[in-house]
Parts: sequence; C-alpha cells; structure tokens
Amino acid sequence: MADCLLGIDLGGTNIKIGCFDTTLKLIGRISVPTDAEMGPDFIVDKFYTTSKELLKQNDLSLADVCAVGIGSPGLINLTEGVVRAAPNLPLFKNVPLKDMVAKRLGKPVILENDANAACLAEHTIGAGKGSDHMILLTLGTGIGGGIISDGRLIHGPSGGAAELGHLIIYPDGRTCGCGQKGCVEAYASANSTAARATEAIQDGAPSSLAACLKEQGKITCKDVFEHAGKGDAVAKEIVEGTAKALAMVCAQLTNVTDPQSIVFAGGMIAAGDVLLTQIRRFYKQSLGHLFDRESLELCFATLGEDAGIIGASSLALAVCQ
Ligand SMILES: [Zn+2]
Repeated sequence: MADCLLGIDLGGTNIKIGCFDTTLKLIGRISVPTDAEMGPDFIVDKFYTTSKELLKQNDLSLADVCAVGIGSPGLINLTEGVVRAAPNLPLFKNVPLKDMVAKRLGKPVILENDANAACLAEHTIGAGKGSDHMILLTLGTGIGGGIISDGRLIHGPSGGAAELGHLIIYPDGRTCGCGQKGCVEAYASANSTAARATEAIQDGAPSSLAACLKEQGKITCKDVFEHAGKGDAVAKEIVEGTAKALAMVCAQLTNVTDPQSIVFAGGMIAAGDVLLTQIRRFYKQSLGHLFDRESLELCFATLGEDAGIIGASSLALAVCQ
C-alpha cells in the first residue's frame, strides 16, 4: 500500500529528502550536495536516485510512496508548478519542476516556495502550532518569509507574496541584492550582519573583530555574535542593528496581518537568547499605542533543519491519491 510521503527540500547547496508516514512521522532522511551548476535535468535525476536510496535504507520502495512535495527557493508559479527564477539556482529559469519530477518518479507532485514550506511545517507541528495567524522569517544568507493568515498560506496571484526580506525599513539605505535600497535583508541577514561588521572594522572601529578579519580574511555572522557575547562594543552594536532591523519589520508585519506569532528560523537563530531578547526589546519600543499587541509571541522555530522536508511532506499529503 502506498502510504508514505517524500518531502524534498531543494537548497542552493544541499538537497534534503525526508520519508514520512501519513501522520507526518519521520521514517528517514538523507542529504546530498545539490551540484546546482549541473542544471535542472541532473538535479531531477538526483531526486530520483537519492529517493530510491533513502527508501531502500528504510526497507521501502517507490511503490510505497503516495506523493511527493518539493520546497524550492525562488519565485514559484504554483498552478503550473514552475520555478520562475531562483537566485541560488542560476540555471533554474522557468523550469517546469513539478512535471519533470512527476514524470521521473511517477508520482503526484506538489511544488511550493521553500520558506512557505517551512512556514507550513512550523504552523502544523512546530513553534506556530495552534495559531491560525503566524509569520515566519528565515534568517540565513538572505531573509525569506511565509505568512499564514486565517490558517492558510498567502501566495498572491503570481506566487510572489511574503517576500518579507525585501520590505524597506530604511529609505535610501543599503543596497540589497534585489536592487532596492534599504531592505531588511540588507541589514539583518547573516551575510549583511557580517558585511556591516566588516565595513565597521575597515573604517577603523576598535574591535576584537579586527584580529578575526586579519586572521581569517573575513568576518562571519557567527563571529559577530561570539564577539558580542564576549563584550566587544562594536560587535554588540552590529548585533543591536540586526535585532532592531528585525524588530522594525515585525512591527510593520504586525500592522499588516495582526499575527498571533512571528517565528524566526534559519541558521542565525543559533545565536540564541542574545538575539531574541533584543528583538523583543526593540519590538516593544517600536509599538504604537493604538492596538494591544502585547499578546503577540516572538519566538524561534522548533523544527530546525527538518522544517523544509516536513512542510513539503505535509503538502504531499494533500495530493495523496
Ligand atoms: Zn531587497
């Protein structure tokens, strides 16, 4: 009986595939390099061989699979199942990924944006469980987003909704990869946090990060949080800038959808309480007095790296035949 689901999380660096039962209980997972430069045909073939390997490891076969869900970065045309463009997968331009995978694996397939899939997972069984109005912000190389309103993901007619990293918080501010100026992503992503620290050191700011830059040739976001934790004043100021930018965007989002919770996911949440406490502090400061927003919960995601495969599988469940 075909009663298991495959959830595929297609990333710029790795492909993660999870096998789940129909209660979304994880049976097994596998991760392989994406080799994005090899293009869509190669990657779809990799989905096939890696899925077969994962199923074999768990004494299953493709015959046991009911449906496949895929979370992909970039702009997705949901109705046609097409990846229109994905910055981290440069060869993915108008790729009919849904049909390609359905043909290769011989299963019903559903395609979704990766941040939306992670948002759905946190909403279903993670930090946003029980709230029909939640927002997810993924803090990594860039900033991704997902919005659940009235229990449903918001997509918009072209699938471009919830590009929350590109909300402008400082008009005429730092240039963002998207071409706009002053996006929250240009201040508070892991890359931008590291870039702001590097610029401060290059401008001569006195900081223990200077030695870090000299030794490693670069400063990472992790370095910034570590040095801030050790009391370095410049690193603390950079971390405050990141928290403040995120708090500002949270305040704006609160006014847009009135969520019950805003959940932060992605690599940067490894920074822990030092980040969350400051976001909460700045958020409180930026609140107006018109509405009672005290009940809004700002918290970290709980599903970690499995959110993508869980969300993709939960979507697969919906197309199970
Ligand atoms: Zn932008």
